[in-house]
Amino acid sequence: MRIDIITIFPEYFGPLSVSLIGKAAARGDITFGVHDLRGWTHDLHRTVDDSPFGGGPGMVMKPEPWGEALDSVQALAGGRGGFGAGPLLVIPTPAGAPFSQLHAARYAAEPWLIFACGRYEGIDGRVADEARSLMRVEEVSIGDYVLAGGEPAVLVMTEAICRLLPGVLGNAESAANDSFGFGDVESGDPMAGLVEGPSYTRPRVWRDREVPPVLLSGDHAAIARWRRDAALRRTAQNRPDLVARLATEAPVPLDRHDLQVLSEAGFPVDGKDMAH
Ligand code: SAM
Repeated sequence: MRIDIITIFPEYFGPLSVSLIGKAAARGDITFGVHDLRGWTHDLHRTVDDSPFGGGPGMVMKPEPWGEALDSVQALAGGRGGFGAGPLLVIPTPAGAPFSQLHAARYAAEPWLIFACGRYEGIDGRVADEARSLMRVEEVSIGDYVLAGGEPAVLVMTEAICRLLPGVLGNAESAANDSFGFGDVESGDPMAGLVEGPSYTRPRVWRDREVPPVLLSGDHAAIARWRRDAALRRTAQNRPDLVARLATEAPVPLDRHDLQVLSEAGFPVDGKDMAH
C-alpha cells in the first residue's frame, strides 16, 4: 500500500517509523510519502493561507498550492504504476462523515491513499471540488471536536488502517476479535456491533483481585460465551448508541442469552425486535 500525506508540518509524521507500522514500512509493505505543502508555494514567505472571503476570524488555506500539490503527488506516485483505480483522496475535517472501523477496513483494501491535512479554518472549498473531478474524494472526521490541524487525525486513521494490513499485526486473529467487528456471520464474529470486554493476564490473583475463573477453565465454549457477555455488558454501559443499533441492524443475530444479558444490564429488550 502507498500512503501520501500533504501537510505544512512534515515533522509531525515521525511516529510513522515507530512500532508495528514502522516495521511494516521498513519491510516495504507500506510506502509513505510525506510532502511539505510549502514546496508548492512561489513567494518569498511560502504563504499557504489568506483571509476568508465574506469576512470572519481566522485564515483559510489558499487553493493554488493545494492544487499544485495534488497534481504533483498524483503524477509522482501514478508514474510508478500498479495503482488501478488511482488514489483515494481523504480530507480530514470535523465536517466530514464519522471515521469508523468500517472506513479503516475499506481504506486498508485501497492500494493508494492521499491525505490532505488542513490547518487554520480549513482548505479553500474549491480544492475538494476540483479534486473530485480528478480522483475519488472522501471527507472524514475522527470525532465531534475540533483539532488545530489534520495531522493528528491522519496519524489516527493511518494507524487504524495499517494495523489491518496483512502481516502488520503479530496475530491476525487479534484484529478479528477487536471492538466494532464487521459482522462476518459465517465466522461468527463475536464483537460485531459491540465493544470488547476486559482482558486479563498473569498473575491469576493481583492485589486480591482474581481473574474470572472461567478464563482458566480450558472450556472454549464457556470462555467464548463469557467474552460475549462481557462485551454486551460493556457496550450497554459505555455505548448505549450501539445497543440501540443492535435492535435494528444487528450484524450477527442476537440469541436469547444475549437478550437476557442486555436486559440485566438495563436494556430490557423485546425479543421480537432483536432476536433473529
Ligand atoms: N473551521 C473548521 C470547522 O469548524 O469545521 C475547523 C478547522 S480546524 C481548526 C483545522 C483543520 O483541522 C481542519 O481543516 C482539519 O484538517 C483538521 N480537523 C480538525 N478537527 C478535526 C476532526 N474532528 N476530524 C478530522 N480533522 C479535523
